[in-house]
Amino acid sequence: MADTFSSELDRWSWDQVGERIEAKTAGDVEQALSRAGVADMEDFMALVSPAGASYLEDMAHASREITLRRFGNVIQMFVPLYLSNECTNVCDYCGFSVTNQIPRKTLTTKEILAEAEVIKGYGYDHVLLVSGEAQSLVGPSYFRNAISTLKPYFSNVSMEVQPLEEEHYEEMIPLGLHAVLVYQETYHRDLYRLHHPKGRKRNFDYRLATAERLGRAGINKIGLGCLLGLAEWRTDLFFLALHLRYLEKRFWRTRYSISFPRLRPFEGEGTLPLHEVSDRDLVQAICAFRLLDPELELALSTRESPRFRNHATRLGITSMSAGSKTSPGGYVNGEDVLEQFEIDDSREPAEIERMLNASGYEAVWKDWDPSFDGSGMPLEKSLVSC
Ligand code: SF4
Repeated sequence: MADTFSSELDRWSWDQVGERIEAKTAGDVEQALSRAGVADMEDFMALVSPAGASYLEDMAHASREITLRRFGNVIQMFVPLYLSNECTNVCDYCGFSVTNQIPRKTLTTKEILAEAEVIKGYGYDHVLLVSGEAQSLVGPSYFRNAISTLKPYFSNVSMEVQPLEEEHYEEMIPLGLHAVLVYQETYHRDLYRLHHPKGRKRNFDYRLATAERLGRAGINKIGLGCLLGLAEWRTDLFFLALHLRYLEKRFWRTRYSISFPRLRPFEGEGTLPLHEVSDRDLVQAICAFRLLDPELELALSTRESPRFRNHATRLGITSMSAGSKTSPGGYVNGEDVLEQFEIDDSREPAEIERMLNASGYEAVWKDWDPSFDGSGMPLEKSLVSC
């Protein structure tokens, strides 16, 4: 195995992988389906291929079965708490980009607690801290304070902020940092450069190595993903799966989740999807990851429409956000005036819970505890299924 995933990535040609995916046949897809749950990277290519699109019903059925066996009829609920929309980067798909003339806001400790109070009122016990990338203003010491402030009120505090150093993660884990989400956006180096023309985020390799720093620091869970729409999705997801496999082999005690954000409209100027990802494509992507890895947690945010989210619950998704505000202070203010992107599903958390119940699912308002029975399954669920 290569020393870093960056060097592993360099062994592969994007174009050749794309050609191999295109060349997969119905027979390859059927073989991959017969190996659901123990699929390899060749199988994954078949599952995300155009040929795989003709087997969507079979993939969805297998994905649902595997997910029910592994996770039960349970959806973990989480909600983002936006700490700051300050950002020194230019990402041409994001409302927080430094060149966008929007009011900037960073929450004080008092304001963080006020947001937390509203979020707790919804029933959440798991909060995801989100911010733009403004290292000097919203850096490690700010995050340490935010985690320490919130930990007494939430069982799980996770984070989706700029990539940090290993030592920073080592300091935050004892304070209660549970999981870190760090999406590579795209694994296509040239397109990455194109969409990130300015700021620290321009450094593709530093971002790519974040998951390895997290693994070495001993984080409980790492969240990976691509921003779907920046590059050709089938090939991008192959490299995401390759990244996942690399990390799973090296940091096997860590849990992993995959998110499927599609580009959304946002405040300000920028670029919108260059590579369309349809609802059917997204279903295929979700199912392909489930058939690759039964242990994987699969997340879907409020970027997606109510109709799609209702449907996706039964496909293999294991966690969902609801009632999200994508601006700092959004929960107290009750409106998203400084939002990062437009959300599509604006239903209240209680409404999502009713939808889940009507579909035979139970909403769980926190992540699985790290102190489970070792199987990763909540203890009571393991006993029920014994
Ligand atoms: S995606 Fe993140 S880093 Fe890029 S502009 Fe938005 S907040 Fe800043």
